[in-house]
Amino acid sequence: MTTYAAMHKLLKQLKLPAKYSACDWCGLTASDWAYQWDDPNALDSERGPYSENTTSYAPMCRRCHNAFDDAHRSYSPERFPFEVARLRVAAYGAVSDERRAADSRTRERSREAALRHIEAQEATKKTRRTKAESAAAQSAMALMARGYRHNSLERGKR
Ligand SMILES: [Zn+2]
Repeated sequence: MTTYAAMHKLLKQLKLPAKYSACDWCGLTASDWAYQWDDPNALDSERGPYSENTTSYAPMCRRCHNAFDDAHRSYSPERFPFEVARLRVAAYGAVSDERRAADSRTRERSREAALRHIEAQEATKKTRRTKAESAAAQSAMALMARGYRHNSLERGKR
């Protein structure tokens, strides 16, 4: 079983930290990989329910994430999807296109800076690589670098 912490670490490696994505609801910069309450096999943890499926998470800002979780607590399973649809439209409508565009430019700059940092680390490692270095550390780094490059290809999708 994957723990809550391990799952969130994996999400960051595969999809990058949420701060490099737009909030699924309002389009401002996200802060969390938010569990989407859509996995019938969700697991419990001290930090709340979570899923082992990476597809059960979306990037969300703290404000929308809280509204989402509040709605899940407040409404019946039948009513929940309708309330979510309503809240989502309201969250998007409350933010101007200018603010979304400004956040998008800021995210792009920080993603590029992070990629340069990782590439510099990779270059240093290549010159210093020893047999003692663990294969796990290398593959985690490669996975993360791939995520940053992949993310740049996805730009403009939203
Ligand atoms: Zn939001």
